[in-house]
Amino acid sequence: MRVPIIAGNWKMNNTISESLALIEAILNSKLSAEVEKVVAVPFTSLMEVKKALKGTDIKVAAQNMHWEDNGAYTGEVSPLMLKEIGVDYCIIGHSERRQYFCESDETVNKKVKSALKHGIKPILCVGETLEEREEGKEEEVVKRQLLKALEDVAKKDIGNVVIAYEPVWAIGTGKTASSEDANNMCGFIRKVVGEKYEEEIKEVLRIQYGGSVKPSNIKELMAKEEIDGALVGGASLIAEDFVKIVNY
Ligand code: PEP
Repeated sequence: MRVPIIAGNWKMNNTISESLALIEAILNSKLSAEVEKVVAVPFTSLMEVKKALKGTDIKVAAQNMHWEDNGAYTGEVSPLMLKEIGVDYCIIGHSERRQYFCESDETVNKKVKSALKHGIKPILCVGETLEEREEGKEEEVVKRQLLKALEDVAKKDIGNVVIAYEPVWAIGTGKTASSEDANNMCGFIRKVVGEKYEEEIKEVLRIQYGGSVKPSNIKELMAKEEIDGALVGGASLIAEDFVKIVNY
């Protein structure tokens, strides 16, 4: 039985005070206890949000991290720094980071391994661009991203990895992949990871869909057998919408 996981990715939105106001609004509503809930907040808000969520079952994620513990990497944040705050998850390899910040399959792999080493669970993002889908290369691209990201990741750690299938053309565009396409790609991901490790892994691996998830489409997506949750961008900035998505 895979516990559904809904994560809100706030991206570069919300100052500390705005973050706390959003958390307060979310906490004013009853949230399903059957769903694992995560908020991925900007670095500057992590500490205060973590404190505000103390005593609740909502987990906190960073949106990125460096793979080294420390060193001459101006502007970067290390896993040790995140760990001290009590960060539970870290989004790794989001398409916006791959697109705007030159993140490669190699750096994604380093980050995944480092996060696991430090007890931070990676939410590993994979997904094809519109061009790649139009060329029929979505499976090839996603398989490459997955196998590279999971290179040298031990079987014992794979249960701590959440994979987010996020077709790039569906992120922030209002275009959602059809629930069938999303389900097929999540099934494909499960198959690739199962082949790399072993069949049993397929039963525990949690795979989210991400890309313009809203209160109006979450139910249909979550009804699909291969989809275990959602990574939600825009809609996670509105407390009412995030709550509706969690309580799908
Ligand atoms: C995301 O940021 O991961 C995302 C899926 O964004 P949105 O829901 O806005 O498409």
